[in-house]
Amino acid sequence: MRVTIDQDKCCGAGSCVLSAPEVFDQREEDGIVLLLDAEPPAALHDAVHEAAAICPAAAITVEQTEQAERV
Ligand code: SF4
Repeated sequence: MRVTIDQDKCCGAGSCVLSAPEVFDQREEDGIVLLLDAEPPAALHDAVHEAAAICPAAAITVEQTEQAERV
């Protein structure tokens, strides 16, 4: 799994941080999303998918990387 974020779209709602705090954080000054782990381990994939689904700004993109999924 590869995660990318678009900080221009992010409105700082923070939903992603609540769903997957291991993967997402927010800048202290304005709440814009920070990506902590662009290739999170399998145990976090459900949480990352949820974060992407609930992001009100659609600022989170998740790509499947097949090699990594089979480990
Ligand atoms: S849920 Fe979306 S809009 Fe909210 S902080 Fe995360 S990336 Fe930004």
